[in-house]
Amino acid sequence: MTHVITDACIGEMDASCVDVCPVDCIYEGVEKRYINPDECIDCGACVTACPVSAIFGPNDPQDPVWAEDNRVFFDEMLPGRDEPLGSPGGASAVGPVGADTPLASRIAADR
Ligand code: SF4
Ligand code: SF4
Repeated sequence: MTHVITDACIGEMDASCVDVCPVDCIYEGVEKRYINPDECIDCGACVTACPVSAIFGPNDPQDPVWAEDNRVFFDEMLPGRDEPLGSPGGASAVGPVGADTPLASRIAADR
């Protein structure tokens, strides 16, 4: 497990984490951002940059549902897309993905 972004990010999207990530592995959904588990090098820089403490490291106590949520964003077909995102090798080249995971979408809709 690598670093993961939890539901505290939903609706925030301020990009402080993106600005400090040395490998550009934090991708933009609609209501939330997601860390690519294959591209993250576990440097930890994003954890303290996040103003709402939405990011947890592999050794932090955390709800496993958010590690799964970050994985789903890359490995599974998201609504409105015709193939999984996979590991594109850099979020800035991809830009806004235009979709969220079903879990993040549900939580955003309930708020
Ligand atoms: S732990 Fe480091 S490499 Fe991983 S997402 Fe955070 S800033 Fe990027
Ligand atoms: S800094 Fe925190 S709230 Fe802002 S986009 Fe990153 S994870 Fe989400």
